[in-house]
Amino acid sequence: MKHMLLKNKHKINHIKIIINICIIVIYSIIFINKVALANEAICIDNGCHETRVIKVLVLYDDELFFERGWENNLNNRLAEINDFYYSNFKIKWKVIAIKQYAFNKNVEKLSTLFSLHKETLLKLETDAEVILSIIGRDIKGSGIAATFSNIIMVSNYDKLLSYRSSVIIAHEFGHLFGAWHTQRTEDFMLVSGASNLHAGKESSSILKLMRNYSFVPETIINNTKTLNRISRLYDRHHARGEINPVARLLTDYGNKYYLSKKYNKALDTLKNSIKYYARWGKTRMLLSKTYYELGMYSNAFTELTRAMFFGSQPDLDYENKLKNKFIQLKELDPSINNPFIPS
Ligand SMILES: [Zn+2]
Repeated sequence: MKHMLLKNKHKINHIKIIINICIIVIYSIIFINKVALANEAICIDNGCHETRVIKVLVLYDDELFFERGWENNLNNRLAEINDFYYSNFKIKWKVIAIKQYAFNKNVEKLSTLFSLHKETLLKLETDAEVILSIIGRDIKGSGIAATFSNIIMVSNYDKLLSYRSSVIIAHEFGHLFGAWHTQRTEDFMLVSGASNLHAGKESSSILKLMRNYSFVPETIINNTKTLNRISRLYDRHHARGEINPVARLLTDYGNKYYLSKKYNKALDTLKNSIKYYARWGKTRMLLSKTYYELGMYSNAFTELTRAMFFGSQPDLDYENKLKNKFIQLKELDPSINNPFIPS
């Protein structure tokens, strides 16, 4: 009898151990899913393992038109870019049309040219998801793209003859998925001009998360879950003091709302941007101007001083406008405090 009891006790202990192991395993699975994978490279939706083909429209200026064989060079570059994107992310870039485009000829910097044409390029009728603009003339800058947008612009560096051009184009494509600059010298998102088609852990994480992104910012701008995931990846990996890509996206939209006079929407979007990155002077300046339009002048003043503190470009016209507003208000009501005048 005693022997039987002992045997049973032994059995119960055995079961207890098994139950404990099961609990540990279940908790581990939950932990991996909730914590580890939330920060790691997973896709937003299913279909991560299917090839993604991205349709590209190539635009070139008339100077490039006269370069012999440039289309062949472009094909060679795309083959290199596709080797890299396919082996890492199962992405293929497919040129569906090549068209000449009248880019401004008097601008000296690629970044200025990009800003100048960005809005009109966005309105082009095309089945392509992404526009690759190639500037044939001598211009300052090798490549540019806006984070999460669908347009990249590259200069005709070395007539698209070398591997370096592939790296530049692949790098700018990377920005379209939200990839930021890294300091890791081997990585294709290297800040000071990459020389390798290699994706390290940092760049891979954001590209894997966003590989199915449609390049339409409206599809993610209100998706807090996705924005938080991007931001977490950025916080975890980024090595240098760059602006959080989510804040970039939101401030860009805040600016759009501001310019189209949708001030309440601009206010919400800019405040949201600050939650992701509080130290960007550009966001603070836009927020100040938005407060001004909404008649919230004290807030406008506070944000203006913050904008200056965080290194925003001064805007004297706006500053004077706000100053005059306080003078005007004080004339109507002497009890109003004018923050521009020390009391
Ligand atoms: Zn870049």
